[in-house]
Amino acid sequence: MTNIILLGPPGAGKGTQAKRLVDGRHMVQLSTGDMLREAKTSGSEMGRKVADVMARGELVTDEIVIGLIREKLTGEAGGGFIFDGFPRTLAQADALAVLMDGLGQKLDAVIEMQVDDAALVSRITGRYTCGGCGAVYHDSTKPTKVADTCDACGSTSMQRRADDTEDALRTRLMEYYKKTSPLMGYYYAKGALRSVDGLAAMDDVAGAIAKVLDSAE
Ligand code: AMP
Repeated sequence: MTNIILLGPPGAGKGTQAKRLVDGRHMVQLSTGDMLREAKTSGSEMGRKVADVMARGELVTDEIVIGLIREKLTGEAGGGFIFDGFPRTLAQADALAVLMDGLGQKLDAVIEMQVDDAALVSRITGRYTCGGCGAVYHDSTKPTKVADTCDACGSTSMQRRADDTEDALRTRLMEYYKKTSPLMGYYYAKGALRSVDGLAAMDDVAGAIAKVLDSAE
């Protein structure tokens, strides 16, 4: 079992690569962003509380996301956990270390997906996903074969995220550099940081991640 963190700015491809690892290695994706969007859709009190913060592109409180992760860590672990979009602050990273320790689990690698900001803007503002199966598409680089119909499952419910706008993206990037990028130093100091080129072709990024996983096993 291998537990990893995918670290990188919004649009780096964390979700896409996480889904490949779920399919290919039966790992379990823990995306706090997905969990928060689910809470929003379900109309729960917590979901209502975080909706505006998320739409602006700001981080929700450490307490909320740590609570979400705590619940999932005792569940099905499959081939290992992929932390996608968590941790995003040093406090979250510390909390994760304590939680994993308590469960007798360890973190095997932190994979930094390196990309540049110019690529992120076009990646994010053209992005849409299938509401049926979660497949990710892009207006110019990966459109559906038939307009608004998922290639994978045939669903016609395509969705765009409320925070995939240029304004919210600017805030999300600022949050990333201010609060999340210090995690690179934190995990480097722990000897856990590995970097891959997030701008390479999707299969090559997957190959680079597979190498890290194989050497961590
Ligand atoms: P993501 O899908 O990972 O891009 O996350 C979407 C939004 O959910 C972020 O912009 C934050 O508002 C919120 N969010 C997700 N994960 C976290 C986290 N670990 N800490 C704080 N806020 C988060």
